[in-house]
Amino acid sequence: MSDDKAQDRFEQSQYTFSDLLQVKARSGGAKYWYGKIWKSVGKCVFCDLKKRYTIMELDGMVLTVNIYPYIDGNLIIVPKRHITHIKELTEKEWAVVKKLHYVAKKMLRKIFGYKGLWMIYREGSSYETSQKTVEHMHIHLMPYAENLVTWNYQPLKLPPFETAAIFRENKKAVDTLLRRYEEKYEKDS
Ligand SMILES: [Zn+2]
Repeated sequence: MSDDKAQDRFEQSQYTFSDLLQVKARSGGAKYWYGKIWKSVGKCVFCDLKKRYTIMELDGMVLTVNIYPYIDGNLIIVPKRHITHIKELTEKEWAVVKKLHYVAKKMLRKIFGYKGLWMIYREGSSYETSQKTVEHMHIHLMPYAENLVTWNYQPLKLPPFETAAIFRENKKAVDTLLRRYEEKYEKDS
């Protein structure tokens, strides 16, 4: 839809001022808008998901739209319970992520014609470290569009095979991490 057409549709429609703001937010950047919501709501936005934005709920996981999307059809998979990291998902919840991803991919193709979809999970304590704006663990399903993201490749410090070699040389540390993970996160799944 062209910008003009979208504008006409808003002018003659039932959409509210806040709906229009959501569309305008695309050009303003999500950080600013999410920052504002966070301050005005004063609680976790994903613990307080509004029905209007929710697509479906399945076994403790929710498929929702992004309130300030990067692109039409930008969806989010979020657990109902407030957890902050992907490692806290149970095996069952992880299986639901796969299922919701499948439904989203097929439906986004049907509705918008998208042929590609990225899954984006941000791990980091702040916007500065990972662009994560909401602490509650969530996974973005981002329809692929040619000019949506431009990669700015960084100068390398190592050839990639060296990185692999360093991991292999640190087998002891890796094994310790695997054991720690199994003890902490696999026992209840
Ligand atoms: Zn939450």
